[in-house]
Amino acid sequence: MIITKGYAVQNATAPPAPFAYEHREPGPNDVLLDIRFCGICHSDIHQARNEWGNALYPMVPGHEIVGEVSRVGSAVAKFKVGDLAAVGCMVDSCRECPSCQAGEEQYCDRGATVWTYNSKDRNGDLTFGGYGNRIVVDEKFALRVPSNLNPAAVAPLLCAGITTYSPLRHWGAGPGKKIGVVGLGGLGHMALKFSHAFGANTVQFTTSSSKIEDAKSLGADEVILTRSEDWAVKHAGAFDFILDCVSAPHDVTPYLALLKRDGTLCTVGLPGMPIPIPAFTLAGGRKSFAGSAIGGIRETQEMLDFCGKHNIVFDIEMTGFDKIEEAWDRVVKGDVKYRFVLDLTTLNA
Ligand code: NAP
Ligand code: ZN
Ligand code: ZN
Repeated sequence: MIITKGYAVQNATAPPAPFAYEHREPGPNDVLLDIRFCGICHSDIHQARNEWGNALYPMVPGHEIVGEVSRVGSAVAKFKVGDLAAVGCMVDSCRECPSCQAGEEQYCDRGATVWTYNSKDRNGDLTFGGYGNRIVVDEKFALRVPSNLNPAAVAPLLCAGITTYSPLRHWGAGPGKKIGVVGLGGLGHMALKFSHAFGANTVQFTTSSSKIEDAKSLGADEVILTRSEDWAVKHAGAFDFILDCVSAPHDVTPYLALLKRDGTLCTVGLPGMPIPIPAFTLAGGRKSFAGSAIGGIRETQEMLDFCGKHNIVFDIEMTGFDKIEEAWDRVVKGDVKYRFVLDLTTLNA
């Protein structure tokens, strides 16, 4: 077995604390990664605090992982020892159903997606994520990292990057389209970068006046402060697509009103509470309210390659295991530009 050390939470109110555990011995198709960087996603906090009601403890969070390949199984073709490799939100799926066959493993029709943490793998063992020094993963679920990018700033692309890239591609963000992004957190700032890179006219909605200038420099053609009065009136009926990246419960009605006929408001934000939808606002204008979850492995590689080609990375703040609690508090307050990344060398400090 692969002896691993990291940080785990033991229940919904406990902070992350040192924890020793094991990963399976790498099989023929597996790679062993020595993890170097792991992003802190708001989902780590939702799950550790059982805000989605499905927590499995002990939980080693972390699904924005970049590491160095330190061992490869006999059948591994994609990686060799010493390569950089990345792991996102999932490490396996049934691989046979129509969704898996279509490369949308996150939507496995058999519900057999194995998540990187807070999940059970095929043999029933709990999975443990990137807040630890090692991980074992089938090469099919490991991604190649473009060599020209800063690996620490690549790590958050593995969740927040693909989660915004995929719906923007699916709903056709590009030239001639007006796209809105709600919430300038980790996901929101990537949505802004991608929508801008795809050539769409992009408007950022934020509750934080302190982020207005940032949003412009990240690629927003316009920034709308949703704390002001009547902010929604000016753009009524103007948007083709709006991506809601907000982590907390909030009223989506004004955003539905901003859509053109046949427009779509898609949530990638996952507050634990149900979202009330006004039927009249949807029906008038044949509008859609949709959701989207991360992206499949093929599209995740496409996203990483796109980032390599266009020199796109995350804006990050490095942190260490001694400061996890402070980092989590600051994420909840929206006080990070725009992702904390754990430096795994701090595990031994
Ligand atoms: P984050 O960095 O904390 O960003 C969330 C942003 O939401 C904040 O920066 C803030 O933006 C806005 N916000 C927070 N509280 C608000 C409130 N009460 N009212 C209005 N706006 C508020 O979080 P993240 O890591 O980007 O994650 C965002 C959400 O996506 C989380 O729920 C996470 O679990 C989810 N997620 C989903 C997927 C998926 O596959 N669908 C994948 C990853 C994460 P402003 O300051 O600009 O207003
Ligand atoms: Zn995430
Ligand atoms: Zn499947």
